[in-house]
Amino acid sequence: MADLPLGADRDHQAWHPETIAVGHGYHPAEHHGSAKPPVYLTSTFVYRDSMHAKTAHEGYIAGRAPQSGADEGYIYARLDHPNMQMLQDRMAALDRAEACAVFNSGMAAISTTLLSLVRPGESVVHTSPLYGGTDGLLNNLMAPAHGVKPVAIADAVDEASITSAVDQALAHGRLGMIWVETPSNPLAGIADIALIARIARRLELQQGSRPLVVVDNTFMGPLLQNPLEQGADLCMTSLTKYASGHSDLLGGSVSGRFALIEPLRKMRTVMGTHLDPHGCWLLLRSLETMGLRTERACRNAAAVARFLRDHPKVARVTYAGFLPEGSAARATFERQCAGAGSTFVFDIKGGEVEAFRMLDALKLLRLAVSLGGTETLICHSATTTHFSVPKARREASGVTDATIRLSVGIEHEADIIGDLAQALERI
Ligand SMILES: *Cc1c(COP(=O)(O)O)cnc(C)c1O
Repeated sequence: MADLPLGADRDHQAWHPETIAVGHGYHPAEHHGSAKPPVYLTSTFVYRDSMHAKTAHEGYIAGRAPQSGADEGYIYARLDHPNMQMLQDRMAALDRAEACAVFNSGMAAISTTLLSLVRPGESVVHTSPLYGGTDGLLNNLMAPAHGVKPVAIADAVDEASITSAVDQALAHGRLGMIWVETPSNPLAGIADIALIARIARRLELQQGSRPLVVVDNTFMGPLLQNPLEQGADLCMTSLTKYASGHSDLLGGSVSGRFALIEPLRKMRTVMGTHLDPHGCWLLLRSLETMGLRTERACRNAAAVARFLRDHPKVARVTYAGFLPEGSAARATFERQCAGAGSTFVFDIKGGEVEAFRMLDALKLLRLAVSLGGTETLICHSATTTHFSVPKARREASGVTDATIRLSVGIEHEADIIGDLAQALERI
C-alpha cells in the first residue's frame, strides 16, 4: 500500500462512526501538511493546459470524482469543489454508502432528489405526517404541476397498512418512490425500513420496476440509525440539525449507490443546490464532535423525558424510549435504532393558554423551531411548525393545542429540568 498518500484512511470500512467523523475524507499530505482542511474560497479552477481541461470535463461527464493530486479535475464550484468532496467522502463513509452528494439545505437535498428521480405521472407512497417542506413539495408542486400522486401510509410498521397504500398508489400509475421519515417529526412515529424495502422488492415483479426507498434520517442521524443497512436505496439527512449541531448553518446530504447519486450531482449542478466551501468546512468541523454531542444529548433527553412523564401537569410524552413493550413499533425501534434521539414532544394538561404561560416563564430554554443544536430549543407545535396544517388533520396526526416540542441540548441536565419545573409551576 506504498501508493497511499500520508494520512489516507482506506481502512475506514472497519472503523467506528465516531472515528470516521473525526478525520475521514481529509488527507493533510495533499494540502501542504495543513492539519485541518483549508477553505477553498474560489468559484473556478485553473487548468494546467488545454488537455487537462478536456480531461477534467470528460471526467465530470463520466461521473468521476475530481481526485486530488496530479490528475485533479475540479472545474467550477457549482459542479464540485474540494471542501464539498471532503464532506461527501465523510458522509458517505458515515452512512456506509458508495457515494454521497451534499446540498445547501435539507430541503435542497429533498427537492433535488424528488425532482430528479420521480417522473411526471408517477405516484409516491410516504409515511405520515411528513416534514412540512416535503409535504408542500409533493402536494403543492409535484401533484398539480407534474401529476404526481402522493399516498400516505397509515401505520408504517404494519404490512397490511403499507400494502394498502401501495395498491392505492398503483391504481394511479407507476409507483416511483417510497419516502420514509422515521422517527417522524414531531411525534416520533416509527416506520419499519426493512419491511418497506421488502415490499418495494416484491413490486419489481408486479410493475416491472422497483420503487426507490428513500429515508429521511434527520431525526436520528448516522450515529443512531443506518437506513442503507436496513435495505433503503438512499439516505437523506438535513445536516442543519445534529450534524451541524450548533444552529448556525444549513446543509443536507443524500447517500447511496454511485449509480443513484451521480444523477443527483448532475441535477444539483443545474439547480445550483450545491453547498458552499465555508458551509462544508463548518460541517467537517462539527462532525468531529457529533459523537460526543449525540451521547450527551441522548442522556439528557432520557432524564428530561422521565421527569416530564412523572410530572402531574404533563398528560403525555412521546419519547421513543417509552414505546410500549410488545408493540410492533417497539420491536422495530429496537432493531433499527441505536438510541432514542433527543427530540420529542409532550402535552401539558390544558391547551394553548396553559402552554403559552409555561413557555413564556422559561428562563434558560430558548423558544425556537429547529432541533439538534447544543442548546435546548422548545416550541408550541400547533402555532409554529404545524401552523399551516388544518386543525382537523393536525389533531388526527396527534398534534393538539397542548403539544410542545423539545429538542434537548447538551447543557447540564439538572438546569434543563430545573427550568422546566419552575415554568410548569406557573401554569
Ligand atoms: C429540518 C428538516 C428538514 C429540512 O432541512 P433544512 O435543512 O431545514 O432544509 C427535512 N426533514 C426533517 C425531518 C427535518 O427536521
